[in-house]
Amino acid sequence: MTGAVEQSRSWFERATAVTPGGVNSPVRAFAAVGGTPRFMVRGEGAYLWDADGNRYVDLVSSWGPMILGHAHPEVVEATRAAASSGLSFGTPTMGEVELAEEIIRRVEPVERVRLVNSGTEATMSAIRLARGFTGRSKIIKFAGCYHGHVDALLAQAGSGVATLGLPTSPGVTGAQAADTLVLPYNDLDAVRKAFAENPDSIAAVITEAAAGNMGAVAPHEGFNAGLRDLAHEHGALLIMDEVMTGFRVSAAGWYGREGVAGDLYTFGKVMSGGLPAAAFGGRADIMERLAPTGPVYQAGTLSGNPVAVAAGLTTLRLADEATYRALDANAERLGGLLGRALGEAGVAHTVSYAGNLLTVFFTDRPVHDYAAATASETWRFKPFFHALLDAGVYAPPSAFEAWFVNAAMDDAAFEIIEAALPKAARAAASAERP
Ligand code: PLP
Repeated sequence: MTGAVEQSRSWFERATAVTPGGVNSPVRAFAAVGGTPRFMVRGEGAYLWDADGNRYVDLVSSWGPMILGHAHPEVVEATRAAASSGLSFGTPTMGEVELAEEIIRRVEPVERVRLVNSGTEATMSAIRLARGFTGRSKIIKFAGCYHGHVDALLAQAGSGVATLGLPTSPGVTGAQAADTLVLPYNDLDAVRKAFAENPDSIAAVITEAAAGNMGAVAPHEGFNAGLRDLAHEHGALLIMDEVMTGFRVSAAGWYGREGVAGDLYTFGKVMSGGLPAAAFGGRADIMERLAPTGPVYQAGTLSGNPVAVAAGLTTLRLADEATYRALDANAERLGGLLGRALGEAGVAHTVSYAGNLLTVFFTDRPVHDYAAATASETWRFKPFFHALLDAGVYAPPSAFEAWFVNAAMDDAAFEIIEAALPKAARAAASAERP
């Protein structure tokens, strides 16, 4: 059991006085679950420690990046070594080339890579490039998919936008949203219809290679291949957003599991090693349209930062087949424990997987799109989450997020989860519909 959270509470008070909601990214604020967000001071392996000294098994893994667990000694050492050679030069560096080569080696359809600082920048730039390449303006995205806080992509987005129940965001102009067609996930007929109704005007379809931001929801068999075929039939590009799945669900991300090639890819999280770095890449003929070889402008003062590159490259080099086997096994073990505890407590539930991403939906119906995710009994999540947290298990503080295992989880970590679950499942069972 965890103890007092006085330090976190007092720091959260200070934080709310200086930062909107006390956080620098909305899902950290516990808005959907209430209570005090924990201020973490240390991470090691599968665990996090908060400012009051409480220890948690971490099932968020910094929202994806920490596949090796926290403070992996070799990643820390590579980062330290890079930092001691200088933090930023604003010139090309060798590590950037090696990181691009590593990404290209892993993900066959990617022939060129450009490094950026966040997943948001990656998708924003990929969309600009798709528009520049095709000379068209419209984009298809799917409800419940989140591609960062790019203006045009905030419509019916997942992740924090879903958690806070926002249909879209004030501040996004009609003009910015007008070129975005939002369709139901896993519905190829809707995509077919959209192409038929918008001839010669759709630049790209952007999709999470497997959805993680409405909770983990895998694409139906044939969905991604159908997107590729429809896009190409109509002269559009397919952008595979692998910011969440990339280098996590296999060495080559979702592409490694499914083999459906996109024209452009976006990456982040794991390839950053936990520092701010991300990337987009894809077919050479498209990528060469970027400045300075082409006219589509894109740039960044800190892009390819040597310290971030060292952390990312070292993480990827350490993430071998054994790592991916461990991630898959840990996800399956976690899902099994969740399912068993909820079953024993008589709570209707579905453990939904997208590779080794998983989410518990409080419904016994299969969840294959955002409408089904939001129709689940999300009000059961709050007491479930808090019972886990009180017992030292840090799950994502939202019913619409994927749970992220890491390869450092061992039997001791699973024993803590297993011990916490019966009470959490009973709390979910006795939750009252608001
Ligand atoms: N794309 C996907 C699929 C994501 O999951 C995220 C973030 O969670 C992003 C893009 C945006 O990445 P970032 O938060 O680094 O801007």
